[in-house]
Amino acid sequence: TLLDLFARNCDANGATVLFERPGEPDISFAEAMTQVTAFAGVLEEIGVQPGDRVAAQVDKSPEAVLLYLATLHRGAVFLPLNTAYTGAEIDYFLGDSEPALFVCRPETLSQHAARASDRLTVESLGGAGEGTLAERARRVTPIETPVARSADDPAAILYTSGTTGRSKGAVLTHGNLASNCAALLDAWHFTTEDRLIHALPIFHTHGLFVACNMALAAGATMIFLTRFDPDEIIAEMADATVLMGVPTFYTRLLKSPRLDAVTTAGMRLFVSGSAPLLEEDHRAFEQRTGFAILERYGMTETCMIASNPYDGARRPGAVGFPLPGVEIRITERETGAELPQGDIGAIEVRGPNVFQGYWRMPEKTASEFRADGFFITGDLGRIDGDGYLRIVGRDKDLVITGGYNVYPKEIEALIDDLPGVSESAVIGLPHPDFGEAVTAIVVPRPGEAVDEAALQNGLSSVLARYKQPKRVLCIEELPRNVMGKVQKAELRTRYKDLYQ
Ligand code: ATP
Ligand code: MG
Repeated sequence: TLLDLFARNCDANGATVLFERPGEPDISFAEAMTQVTAFAGVLEEIGVQPGDRVAAQVDKSPEAVLLYLATLHRGAVFLPLNTAYTGAEIDYFLGDSEPALFVCRPETLSQHAARASDRLTVESLGGAGEGTLAERARRVTPIETPVARSADDPAAILYTSGTTGRSKGAVLTHGNLASNCAALLDAWHFTTEDRLIHALPIFHTHGLFVACNMALAAGATMIFLTRFDPDEIIAEMADATVLMGVPTFYTRLLKSPRLDAVTTAGMRLFVSGSAPLLEEDHRAFEQRTGFAILERYGMTETCMIASNPYDGARRPGAVGFPLPGVEIRITERETGAELPQGDIGAIEVRGPNVFQGYWRMPEKTASEFRADGFFITGDLGRIDGDGYLRIVGRDKDLVITGGYNVYPKEIEALIDDLPGVSESAVIGLPHPDFGEAVTAIVVPRPGEAVDEAALQNGLSSVLARYKQPKRVLCIEELPRNVMGKVQKAELRTRYKDLYQ
């Protein structure tokens, strides 16, 4: 398990720094393990049993990561919650997951204390490692020996980002986490020498199960930053080897004149994922720094699925090949029939990385799996002639207009290339004649204007008529969540009456 790999690094290289933070003392692997065993002692004292959920809505800190490890140490199931969730959302997540322990931020403890019952304990943990949980950890007798767990035992419940609807709890096993981490360490040539710039939130698979797990398992160091500040990141690159980011990180880094081949010279790898990286950013980044960003694809339910190659061409707009042990196929959504290479269809995945199911949603789980064990991701894509997987969007974002399928990404790519356009989102909106009408939401470049008629003209020679947007709307920025995902559902709600 992941905990075994972490423990091995603590024994073999205990003095290696695990967490490095600007202006704060370093935390070594050995010190981290001490804190894990203390937290494990507190969990035991509270009465957290193997299999129980430990929910945490806390600010990013080393202690939050160590609480995750302590939860695994107790054989319990870690359940991190987005720090943006409030009142009714927290009610839903806690009601749905029924944790034995809820760890909140110190400033919200008084508000959440009322939730405590004989089945739920409420404690707090702060961004500087303060809070009631930390206080208890200083007094408790540590527990050295972890509860034994097997590959099929649940390790975490991670809620999906809620981009397409209500977040679902994905139950991930120890086997899921360990196998995916091993595949990534190998694919991205990760070693104990690595110094990873970690500026992602830790309540998603990207920040926790890709970034943290890889450092914990490899015995590498994390430069642990609580927010994304482009200048700080560029400054840290002098003394780092890897950056893992969401696409908006790269968009923002490119805006800094300090990003160049000199400031990135000590780095070896830039990874992007969680949302599509703009092809233009991929090219611009390579031009400025000499580094081709390595784009990969994954989701909460499956951990990482595909990655561009470490050695070999990293293609803009593609997410590469299946990771070792992972199978990908492209099918017709309704029938499940496999499609010929090159055709667009549903992306399905099978492998040791694929989750056990949605928490307490057996029907939903059953409907997303094929009989032969493939999971239907909800993404649409195709595999090009060289075997690279390309994502064309989500099946829920597919526009069906007058009976024709329109894939937003094809149109977005063309719009993004037109003069004056920074980026775009193409959505389908209810239309009395067409069912749905292709609609382009366009963000003009700063200081430039985009004219609806000119843009439509620009597309008329390169797109079949049914794919051409019926309307083009300009907005200042696309709504995005913390992971940089464009919230198309929000756009569809915002403009739902456009054609009515
Ligand atoms: P929900 O399932 O609740 O609607 P979500 O799918 O956004 O939310 P996540 O599991 O965090 O929740 O995100 C996984 C999704 O992110 C994938 O299904 C895919 O659509 C998208 N994604 C991840 N990496 C990439 C990538 N490199 N390119 C394009 N899309 C990506
Ligand atoms: Mg999803």
